[in-house]
Amino acid sequence: MTLDETTSESLFDRAKQVIPAGVNSPVRAFGSVGGTPPFIASASGALLTDADGHEYVDLVGSWGPMILGHANPRVVDAVREAAGRGLSFGAPQTGEVSLVEELVRRVRPLRKVRLVNSGTEATMSALRVARAATGRDVVVKFAGCYHGHVDALLAEAGSGVATFAMPGSAGVTEGTARDTIVLPYGDRDAVTSLFAERGGEIAAIITEAAPANMGVVTPPESFNAFLAQTAHAAGALLITDEVLTGFRASAEGYYGIDGPTAGGTRAADGAGAPPVGGSDWAPDLMTFGKVIGGGLPVGAFGGRADLMDLLAPLGPVYQAGTLSGNPLATAAGLATFAGLDDAAYAQLARTSSTLQSLVADALTTAGVPHVIQTAGTLFSVFFREQPVTTYEDAKDQDTAAFGRFFHALLEGGVYLPPSAFEAWFVSTAHDEQIVDRIAQALPAAARAAAQG
Ligand SMILES: *Cc1c(COP(=O)(O)O)cnc(C)c1O
Repeated sequence: MTLDETTSESLFDRAKQVIPAGVNSPVRAFGSVGGTPPFIASASGALLTDADGHEYVDLVGSWGPMILGHANPRVVDAVREAAGRGLSFGAPQTGEVSLVEELVRRVRPLRKVRLVNSGTEATMSALRVARAATGRDVVVKFAGCYHGHVDALLAEAGSGVATFAMPGSAGVTEGTARDTIVLPYGDRDAVTSLFAERGGEIAAIITEAAPANMGVVTPPESFNAFLAQTAHAAGALLITDEVLTGFRASAEGYYGIDGPTAGGTRAADGAGAPPVGGSDWAPDLMTFGKVIGGGLPVGAFGGRADLMDLLAPLGPVYQAGTLSGNPLATAAGLATFAGLDDAAYAQLARTSSTLQSLVADALTTAGVPHVIQTAGTLFSVFFREQPVTTYEDAKDQDTAAFGRFFHALLEGGVYLPPSAFEAWFVSTAHDEQIVDRIAQALPAAARAAAQG
C-alpha cells in the first residue's frame, strides 16, 4: 500500500465507494461547507488528530456527548473495567439501575425512565407512549426543532435536514406526515388556535427544551410552561426533548433554567393530576441522549410513572432493545456524571462565555454581521444582523460567510461544526491554553468571513 492510503482524501474516496456519501450521518460529509472531512485518528481532551497528522481544537465534541473531553481517563477506565466483565448480557445489570437513578436524582420531572440506544429511539418511544396514553394520533412539533430521524418528526426539522435545506424526508408515508403538525417556534397564537380547532385530536406537543439544532434559539419567557398548560388543558401531553440540552445547558438541562425554581413543587407523579403550567410546570415525558452515554450509544426517555408504566410488560405499549442498558454504555454514562459536578458546570459556563466574547470581538473587528445566542452554557453564532427566533430567521443567514469562516478556522487548527445550524460544544477539557489557541485562529477566520 502507498502512503497515500492513509490520508483523509484517500479514506474519503474509499468510504464513498461503499457508504452513501462516505459517511454514517449526513452533516459529517461537509456537504454545506465543501471540502474533504478530516478522518479522525484519535482524540484526547479538547484535541482531535486526523489521519493526515493535523491537530485541531474540537468544538464539536461528537455533537455533545464529550462534555468531559475526549478519552477522559476516568471514563476510559470505567469502560475498560466494564469490558473485562463482559460486553453485553441481554439481562438486567447494576449499571443501568445506577444510571437511571442518577437521571431521576438530577431531573425533577423524571419518575421512571427506560434506556435505549440513541436519541432517535428515545423520541420515537416517547411519542408511542403519548399516543397510547391519549388514544390520539396527532403530534405537534416546531419548525427547526430536530428530534432524531423518526418518520413522524422529520418535517421541517433542524440539524442535517436544515443543513441541506430539505423540507423533510422522502420515504415518510403520507399518513405519517398527516399526523404531524408543524408550527413556527415560539408562536403562542399558532399553538392556541391549533388547540382551539383540533385539541381533541392531539396526543402531544414535542419541543426541544431549547432549540439547538437550527443554531441555538433561546425559548421565549415561559414558553415551555405555556406549552404544558395548553397541552394539559386539552388532555394532551408535553414531551420536552433534552437529548442535546440535557446535562449541558445546565446541570438539570434546560429544565434547570426554565423549570420551577428550587423549592417549587415537584412534577406530578403517577397518582397526581398533571401540573397546570405557570411557574410550576413540568413536561409529562422527557428524552435524553448524547451526554448521558459519555460517547457510547445511550438514549433515555422517562417522566410520569403512570405513563411509563404503560410500557410492556406492565402495559400495552411495546418497546424493547437487544443492547439497551448495555454495561459499557452505562459505565461510560456513570463515569461522565461522576465528573459533572458544580465546578464542572461553572467551568463550562466560563469557557462558553469567554469564547462568545472572543468570537464577537473578532467578527465585529472584521465587520461581519453576526448574532450570538445562548441557552445556558450552550451557544451558537448566526451570520446575520437580527436575532433568530424562528426557523425562517435561522435559514436567512449568510451561510457562505459561515463556510469561509469555517474553513479558515479549520486551517487555523479549530474544528467547528461543519454547519451554520449547529451549537458549538465546549468541554471541561477546554482550558485557558485551548481557548487561547482558538483566540489565535479567530481574527484570520473573521477576515475570511468578511471577504465575500
Ligand atoms: C441529537 C438529537 C436527537 C437524536 O439523537 P441521536 O442519538 O442522534 O439519534 C434528538 N433530539 C435532539 C434535540 C437532538 O439534538
